[in-house]
Amino acid sequence: MTNKAVARQLALTADLIELTGGNPFRARAYASGARTVERLEAPVATLAASGELSGVKGIGKGLVADIEELLASGTLASTDALLQSLPPGLPEVMRVKGLGVKKVRTLWQDAGVTSLDQLEGAAVSGRLAELPGFGAKTVQNLLDAIEHLKAYRGKAHLRDAVGPALAVRQRLRAAGLRADLAGAVRRQCNVVDALDLLAVGTPAQIAEALGGGRAEADRVEGAIPLGLPLTVFAATAQTYGRVLWERTGPREHVDAFTEAHGAPTDVAEEQEVYTAAGLHPIPAPLRDDPHWLTVAREPLPTLVRTGDLRGTIHNHTTASDGAHTLREMCDAARERGLTYFGVCDHSRSLQIAHGLSLDEMEEQIARVDALNAAYADEGVDFRVFAGSEVDILSDGAMDYPDDLLARLDLVVASVHTGFSMTEDEATARVVAAVSNPYVDVLGHPTGRLLLRREGYPLDHEAVLDACAEHGVAVELNAHPFRLDLDWRFVRAATERGVPVSINPDAHATDGLDDTRWGVASAQKGGLTAADSLTSRSADDLGAWLTARRPG
Ligand SMILES: [Zn+2]
Ligand SMILES: [Zn+2]
Repeated sequence: MTNKAVARQLALTADLIELTGGNPFRARAYASGARTVERLEAPVATLAASGELSGVKGIGKGLVADIEELLASGTLASTDALLQSLPPGLPEVMRVKGLGVKKVRTLWQDAGVTSLDQLEGAAVSGRLAELPGFGAKTVQNLLDAIEHLKAYRGKAHLRDAVGPALAVRQRLRAAGLRADLAGAVRRQCNVVDALDLLAVGTPAQIAEALGGGRAEADRVEGAIPLGLPLTVFAATAQTYGRVLWERTGPREHVDAFTEAHGAPTDVAEEQEVYTAAGLHPIPAPLRDDPHWLTVAREPLPTLVRTGDLRGTIHNHTTASDGAHTLREMCDAARERGLTYFGVCDHSRSLQIAHGLSLDEMEEQIARVDALNAAYADEGVDFRVFAGSEVDILSDGAMDYPDDLLARLDLVVASVHTGFSMTEDEATARVVAAVSNPYVDVLGHPTGRLLLRREGYPLDHEAVLDACAEHGVAVELNAHPFRLDLDWRFVRAATERGVPVSINPDAHATDGLDDTRWGVASAQKGGLTAADSLTSRSADDLGAWLTARRPG
């Protein structure tokens, strides 16, 4: 568990105590404990293991026990109990942006609001404006935030849906049924709103294999804890290929195919749907882009795979807001079969993420040099690139002076602040950044967090034109909430010769594994290993970076 995750749990506990009218001193102890943990230099797990945690100012005996419980089990039993004691709709009200815990308590205790719908009703009816602290502007902001939350209901990140979907498939296969994923999960959509699978069997057999669900004429319906509907479609051995193709979708692909080639006949294997029409089989992730159906008479690209990636760039360490040291992160990358690591901690103006001052950047460069020397001494073939994730300031300038940037191996430029921009403003800001001769990679181009916040609007074509002009690569940030560059613009990048860099943006060693979500999204965009920046060897990447340096 990272320091951030522990801090989040402690802060939640503080909120829940306050919300339920508990002891305010206890609430305050948790809140300040959360801030302390967030600011710790070393991983909280390391301190707990060595017994040093009890010596940290602001962390009393009770908190030490709670943190140990969190580290061991991932949750706090007392917090879970508080959550269970709330009206079921109240946690969703707590997620409304702009509502502090005090306001939620007022809404609940004084206005009887215990769900998002009730909150919306109270806001619309004007009843809310009668409560202290709910002026007209606050109410309007609340209505916007509610609309936002509602739009995301019933949807999940691909990361959270894949596990349950594979578990269902496993159960079907364990019962001896041929079964596969279908629908949006199989197409590797970033966000999914349903789990669809397919199995050979009658609905009754499928329901028995699942141990539940409603058997309908051609399917079994159920739900998973995530709140998503689950459907397992029934097929026979003879129809399996056709039904898998239909249920994988999307509807637009099925319709466009049928219009151009006629409805497919029953086939046992899905690829025969395409080969019977004289086409190369279109991999499921590509089917959301109508382009591929129009070019499938020719062989389709071989999509990049996780195993093609030789290294990783854009990762954080304890120097800024990461949970592990440079050495720990690099060793974790080596364990994953990678041959290089780009350290890109935050730059000086991003203080909430402990951005590095100029002096701290000097230390970072020295740390990288020392680690490279240590690996060489140990006979380990592994290279560390000294980099930075440099903030793009509001005017598009870089957060570090050129003379420092010139000494780095690698510069990723990202926007982290000032998101309320028009498309013109955002585009100009990002274009200015990638026009800086020291910038190598544009980080998470829109700043979006899927199912959390929209990114700023961006003219992707103009930005990718500028990347092409200046030889800059574009990141496909692999964090399952980001997946930014959006897969819909991967072709726009590669058609311009702009390499796409699948970056885990890891803030802890296990964050390196997020690469798989970036690869899934890159595949969806049709990316090949040849156009993937980190599929290059350390020498090739090093040569590319050196060649880009001015002077
Ligand atoms: Zn970033
Ligand atoms: Zn980052």
